[in-house]
Amino acid sequence: MNENDLMTQVVALCKRRGFIFPSSEIYGGLANAYEYGPLGVELKRNIKNLWWKTFIHDRIDMLGLDSSIIVHPKTWEASGHINSFSDPLVDCKNCQRRTRADHLIENYYAQKQEPKLVEGLPIEELQKIIEKEQIACPSCGEFQWTPVRKFNLLFETSIGIVPESESKAYLRGETAQGIFLSFKNILDSTRVKLPFGIGQIGKSFRNEITLGNFIFRTLEFEQAEIEYFFDPQNSNWEELFDNWQEAMWQFVTIQLGIGKNNLRWREHTDEERSHYSLRTVDLEYNFPFGFKELWGLAYRTDYDLKQHMEYSGQDLRVTDSSDGRKYIPHVIEPAVGINRLLLMVLLEFLWQDEANDRLVLKLPYHLAPYKAAVFPLLRNRPELVAKAESVFKLVQSAMPTTWDDRGNIGKRYLSQDEIGTPYGVTVDFQTLEDDTVTIRQRDTTKQARVKIHDLLAELAA
Ligand code: ATP
Repeated sequence: MNENDLMTQVVALCKRRGFIFPSSEIYGGLANAYEYGPLGVELKRNIKNLWWKTFIHDRIDMLGLDSSIIVHPKTWEASGHINSFSDPLVDCKNCQRRTRADHLIENYYAQKQEPKLVEGLPIEELQKIIEKEQIACPSCGEFQWTPVRKFNLLFETSIGIVPESESKAYLRGETAQGIFLSFKNILDSTRVKLPFGIGQIGKSFRNEITLGNFIFRTLEFEQAEIEYFFDPQNSNWEELFDNWQEAMWQFVTIQLGIGKNNLRWREHTDEERSHYSLRTVDLEYNFPFGFKELWGLAYRTDYDLKQHMEYSGQDLRVTDSSDGRKYIPHVIEPAVGINRLLLMVLLEFLWQDEANDRLVLKLPYHLAPYKAAVFPLLRNRPELVAKAESVFKLVQSAMPTTWDDRGNIGKRYLSQDEIGTPYGVTVDFQTLEDDTVTIRQRDTTKQARVKIHDLLAELAA
């Protein structure tokens, strides 16, 4: 499958089989918004559970949190989001196409086969490049841009029922700030000692300008973020940074099973790195539209806690129990979008099996929405259907399972292959005689007969 075909196939499969739908389709759709259907929600949940198990449950130095989407608006002043959480925007005066100036320039150089990164450059610099290169509008071909200007990504809302007393608030642009707001309460309510981390998964909202690329960049998305707090005098930040880099790598290559050739690390340049970060690296995946950020890792120093101390007037310092020294912890932040992980998984595992003329979603077992599908060989034989129903109940009590009695068995197998179900279980006439069923494996298409008594063990992984 070539790269464009792959993306087209993934988008089509998602719609056809109920993984992901365009949002608000009955009203003509809403750009950059999507709905996760019955299978998409299961796949997304499996990814989130894996992240939670790996980074919260399986570690001794991590705690979980679920903070609010709308928090005190001062939070965003303190964090710098109100002033500087913006993208450089230009509009085409001819066709009204709105685009990110940095993306416009990067796409222009990519087409010339001279890849260049300009993200993070000041708007004056971007303006100069657009003018010098006379970069035309990709939609209409004209060169009639408005000046480059800053566009804040935070979604505004208001709190209050009486218009006069309404106050401006924001939907969170990242989950991380909620972690800093709860830092003191977590420290006071648990027996945790530094270094330790707080992780959470939740929705974030950004008024993104750039359209397209399916669920890669959307208006609302789920982030899984960690703030790892440490005492800079007692911990070596380079070492902690390396450890987190390794943990991210292990998660993507081993837990999610992504091929190493499709991954690479990219160090942020001084220009693009946020002013408070001493080091940032992105783990990038080879999407059909190029290597793009999947997961960011940043050493944010004590910037956020310091800012919140200043804006709130509260003391957020930690006391060193050995000598009474008070200090502001530093943090390392691994931040990933669950939706980008999900898109990567779909792209990585969609397989056109030419030999058997079928489309297979070769998901690792623990990610598959259904682990097994149970079929009665024929739907018009009550004794077969009754037996199959009892097998279905047995399997369903142990794992997410689906039922299918439409069409012929071959079609049912193909239908399950497309959605990644690792096992098909068929109840036939022999089952009525000797209590055995056929298990068919998704990837090999091999079939084997097993006793119902042994079925759950056979389907376990
Ligand atoms: P990008 O440069 O792609 O806009 P970012 O550097 O702004 O991303 P961060 O603020 O570091 O992203 O957010 C952490 C993670 O959240 C990203 O690595 C990405 O996986 C995810 N993410 C950020 N913005 C979006 C979005 N609009 N839609 C989906 N996922 C997103």
